[in-house]
Amino acid sequence: MKHNYEYLIIGAGIVGLATAYQLKKQSPKASICLLEKEKKEACHQTGNNSGVVHSGVYYKPGSHKARNCKEGRLELLTFCNEYGIPLKQLSKLIVATETCELAKLHEIFARGQANEVAEISLIGPQGIKDIEPYVNAIEAIHIPHCFVINYKQVAKRLVEILQREAVEIYFGEQVIDIRDHEVTTQHGSYLAKTIINCSGLFSDRIARLTSSNTQYEQQILPFRGEYYELKEDRRYLVNGLIYPVPDPKFPFLGVHLTRMIDGKVEAGPNAVLAYSREGYKKTDVNIRDLQEMLSYPGFWQMARRYWKIGIKELYRSFSKKAFLRDLQRLVPALQEQDLLPGGAGIRAQVVTKEGLMLDDFSFTREGRVLHVLNAPSPAATASFSIGRQIASLSRDVV
Ligand SMILES: Cc1cc2nc3c(=O)[nH]c(=O)nc-3n(C[C@H](O)[C@H](O)[C@H](O)COP(=O)(O)OP(=O)(O)OC[C@H]3O[C@@H](n4cnc5c(N)ncnc54)[C@H](O)[C@@H]3O)c2cc1C
Repeated sequence: MKHNYEYLIIGAGIVGLATAYQLKKQSPKASICLLEKEKKEACHQTGNNSGVVHSGVYYKPGSHKARNCKEGRLELLTFCNEYGIPLKQLSKLIVATETCELAKLHEIFARGQANEVAEISLIGPQGIKDIEPYVNAIEAIHIPHCFVINYKQVAKRLVEILQREAVEIYFGEQVIDIRDHEVTTQHGSYLAKTIINCSGLFSDRIARLTSSNTQYEQQILPFRGEYYELKEDRRYLVNGLIYPVPDPKFPFLGVHLTRMIDGKVEAGPNAVLAYSREGYKKTDVNIRDLQEMLSYPGFWQMARRYWKIGIKELYRSFSKKAFLRDLQRLVPALQEQDLLPGGAGIRAQVVTKEGLMLDDFSFTREGRVLHVLNAPSPAATASFSIGRQIASLSRDVV
């Protein structure tokens, strides 16, 4: 049995680490422990994302996403400058290639203005060519101050800072049970006054472990995002970040082109339902995850709502030609041989019993346990703000 901590955090992704960082700032003397099932930090969503520091253009004004993205972004950029973490500033375009996309483009632009995205503007074909010469579009939203970053580096630096500040971080410790003050892993038990669940793809299962929260019925469904990478001698086709107008019925941004911090250009990610919560390959199946998904009424409701998009995503996952076709809508000069296989990440997406994909971040407190239940993109950008919010919510736990 390890000693009685004031705070115990589950998960060393960027949200768990930023929460520990903010707790330490809020209460420098507090004893904090962080448990992570993997051998190091950032092995899942945080380490397999697109590396974009989002500007906050898409989100509903006033939502958790809009507020935390705006505040978290600033804090993240300050942190990177303070600790020497490389950042690259790039232009972002959200491009409309057909007139039927213009109404949605203008709606996103209005959201961007309401969210006070700096120097956001609408530009026409010539303005687009000046920024991205290989894009063919009729109108675009231009955001000049976007950044790319390697979130693994942010997470690693947070671990170093936290360890220096006497936060106890235990890797290889998988939480398997929670009873009142006691958190059990496969190796032993930890006591804590406040327990904070930042376990990403498993946050619903951890929520169901807490005795007061057996009623927690929503479920995380895993959506794999697969990438291609552009061949080195074709990277010149993309200067910055090129996004399509997203499908308003779907919470994902659509396959896009991203120049990464290391100069590579990634194409993707798509959004394919995965049969394993950590199934990074198309063939990965986890029987427990699959059974749980198929027995969840929300899955069938979601299938009824989104079956057309689901089939399209599945087809595009297996057909490089279909993936290419969507990319060619952004950059027509792209060819099949330009695309090399890339990596994949899995998004933790809460789906309600009614089959709706929960769009906003969701945090709840059940007595002494706080849960970060839905923290999909842009939660990496927003992590410092989410962490601050969780730290202040946990202040008055008794
Ligand atoms: C493909 C993709 C692209 C994305 N692109 C961007 C982007 O460009 N910009 C952006 O801002 N956001 C992006 N996101 C979203 C962002 O990466 C996530 O919102 C963010 O990383 C969530 O962080 P987290 O700490 O909640 O989750 P994770 O990083 O998944 O961390 C959760 C941690 O909990 C651990 N854990 C789970 N269960 C247990 C247990 N029982 N015991 C102990 N430990 C446990 C896991 O091992 C893991 O380390 C993207 C996500 C994906 C998947």
